[in-house]
Amino acid sequence: MSLNSHIEWTDATWNPVRGCTKISPGCKHCYAETFAERFRGVKGHPYEQGFDLRLVPEKLTEPLLWRSPKLVFVNSMSDLFHEDVPDEYIEMVCRVMVTANWHTYQVLTKRSARLRDMLRGRLRFAAGREHIWWGVSVEDKKYGLPRIGDLQEAPARVRFLSIEPLLEDLGAFNLSGISWAIVGGESGAGARPMREEWVVSIRDQCRISRVPFFFKQWGGVRKKKHGRRLQGRTYDEYPERIMSPIPERAKCLAYAEKMLESFRQVLDGDSLVQITA
Ligand code: SF4
Repeated sequence: MSLNSHIEWTDATWNPVRGCTKISPGCKHCYAETFAERFRGVKGHPYEQGFDLRLVPEKLTEPLLWRSPKLVFVNSMSDLFHEDVPDEYIEMVCRVMVTANWHTYQVLTKRSARLRDMLRGRLRFAAGREHIWWGVSVEDKKYGLPRIGDLQEAPARVRFLSIEPLLEDLGAFNLSGISWAIVGGESGAGARPMREEWVVSIRDQCRISRVPFFFKQWGGVRKKKHGRRLQGRTYDEYPERIMSPIPERAKCLAYAEKMLESFRQVLDGDSLVQITA
């Protein structure tokens, strides 16, 4: 976990899963992979296994112990709905989010069909919570736009789009039921360029549909140089956040212990032990 995230649109990250595999062009320069692979083989480092997917059950109850409300990016170093993360484990992550409801969670995936199917079924209990925002990544028309359709079919209370890295003009698309859109260009070595008219088109569609718009960055090889102003101003809009009271510390600790105990019973199952070892 990192309480002071460098990601512009969140304040903390929580990674009960680490590692992932690439699924579409937006993954080409995955920052999580670059970071994780730097530490492959470094004994005792959290990323000793590089970017190989693994569950991190010791991280599961972390948000219950954070005493101030945070905007939490869930699995910034993975994809919660990756096909190798068992349903039982995803449910555990959601149970923690529902219980530690004084935070606001941003759950972002490229596996939008699984997100939709699970929110319709096993994760129904979490789908309609105002403090859990469900999002999909959108980088282009071919892979990104169908994810928006999947998200719109999910019974989520708050839906958001992370349109980054934006790789082409998306044209006109349907924003119904969407509560937030983030747009950004790719940064770092080999960054693919983003044109102003592509961003303006999305901003204007958000204005018409009254969707809060957040412009993260232009990106580029030296992203600081290009900044994050669009046509002379910054865009830092967010959906409304619901603030819930924080229970006393002792109560939170008791919750965490109780949850760990119930998780332990599930975690003893063979398939989960293999993937956490
Ligand atoms: S889905 Fe996300 S975390 Fe996974 S490889 Fe692609 S960009 Fe990286």
